[in-house]
Amino acid sequence: MIEAVKLWNNISNVIQKDITNISFQTFIFPIQAGFIDGSCLYLESPNEVTSNLVNSKYMGLITKTAREIDSNIKSVQILLPNELENLRNTLKESKEEKNSVNKKYTFENFVVGNNNRFVYTVALAVAEQPAEVYNPLFIYGGVGLGKTHLLHAIGNFVQEFKPDVKVKYVTAEAFMNDLIKNLQGKEASSAFRNRYRNLDVLMIDDIQFIAGKQATQEEFFHTFNALHELGKQIIITCDRQPNEVEHLEARLSSRFQWGLIADIQSPDIETRIAILKKKAEIAKIEASDEAFTYIAEKFHSNIRELEGALTKIRAFASMNKRKIDLSVAKEALVDAKAKDVDVEASCDRILNIVSSHYGITVSDLKGVKRSRGVSEPRQIAMYLVREILSMPFASIGKTFGGKDHTTVIHAYNKVSSAVQNSPRLATEISDLIKMIDIN
Ligand code: ADP
Ligand code: MG
Repeated sequence: MIEAVKLWNNISNVIQKDITNISFQTFIFPIQAGFIDGSCLYLESPNEVTSNLVNSKYMGLITKTAREIDSNIKSVQILLPNELENLRNTLKESKEEKNSVNKKYTFENFVVGNNNRFVYTVALAVAEQPAEVYNPLFIYGGVGLGKTHLLHAIGNFVQEFKPDVKVKYVTAEAFMNDLIKNLQGKEASSAFRNRYRNLDVLMIDDIQFIAGKQATQEEFFHTFNALHELGKQIIITCDRQPNEVEHLEARLSSRFQWGLIADIQSPDIETRIAILKKKAEIAKIEASDEAFTYIAEKFHSNIRELEGALTKIRAFASMNKRKIDLSVAKEALVDAKAKDVDVEASCDRILNIVSSHYGITVSDLKGVKRSRGVSEPRQIAMYLVREILSMPFASIGKTFGGKDHTTVIHAYNKVSSAVQNSPRLATEISDLIKMIDIN
């Protein structure tokens, strides 16, 4: 923003010397800096007459001067205020769309076992040839079995090998919220429709969420039809088969069966061990084979829980300065109370580290301020205390200045799900855990 303002100031200073004062006052002075995107400088003109005149009389001079001052600039465009605003929004959205895919989840780090081999193969086929093999692709399975991971893997694959293909990942819940924000009367705004119908690949996660939500189902039905007619790829995940979702409109459920339906089952023990080892490798955690086997035996139906266990064990091991072996794994996974950990001291330690990391005080963390700069770190601190020390929600509430246990549960759930969707937050949390670990 500042850059554009500065650049435009310099340009107009130069131009002022080249043209008459009256021309300068009439044409150049009313023009304001907009912003720079890539190699283009966008300027804002108060009205169409000025734009037209500047375009025909001075554009050459402006562009030449701009290039001389900043060699990164190749072109200059003059827009009206509303055009500039629309462009700004579109650019922002297309950047957000790129960010909708989480880089962490790829095909490379998806472990293939008997439970997911089929779905892995079809997901890869769809990523390689969007809209040409299975459309829609409908993936279903229980919680924490890798559905979301596969969607992002498809998104990453497409973005890497076909950068021009427009991909969007959205949860059904986010789709609904986006729709609500963009409703005008009973109709979705044209901006909303354009956003979804211009895509080449649309991935909707946890579609069961829209069951019973009439307006959202209606709009999704139209989005689905529009994309499918244009030969665009649609990928949907759900916690069960389409015809088993209560209150899901029949016309949607029947469309979901047009393409291919693939399920993910719970992983067997070998696959669970392989997944754990993969996760440990990514997070640079070393552990003995017995420890991996122990964890994999303890958690069988949900891979997110497996990962959670690993995180907990890692924190426990570092806090006690021990290597991860079978006995550490066992100790770490029993309740903190039964462990030989000074819960109170460890809790203080977590609060100190979180507060200094975010540049706030421990009393801020325990207090009631609701500003984002304080409430987000507070929720993260609650999450970490629960994750690392397995303290009961009610005791955590007490530690945080006498808050209700529901507040803590809310914070914990919020951070857990945010970690799944935000690579930034996931890194931040794992950095914090490392800091809590080491010293
Ligand atoms: P779902 O969306 O089905 O509830 P997720 O895709 O969020 O499950 O998976 C939960 C966690 O388990 C994620 O961190 C994911 O990376 C991991 N996971 C699931 N399946 C696999 C797999 N086959 N290989 C590696 N990691 C997996
Ligand atoms: Mg999911």
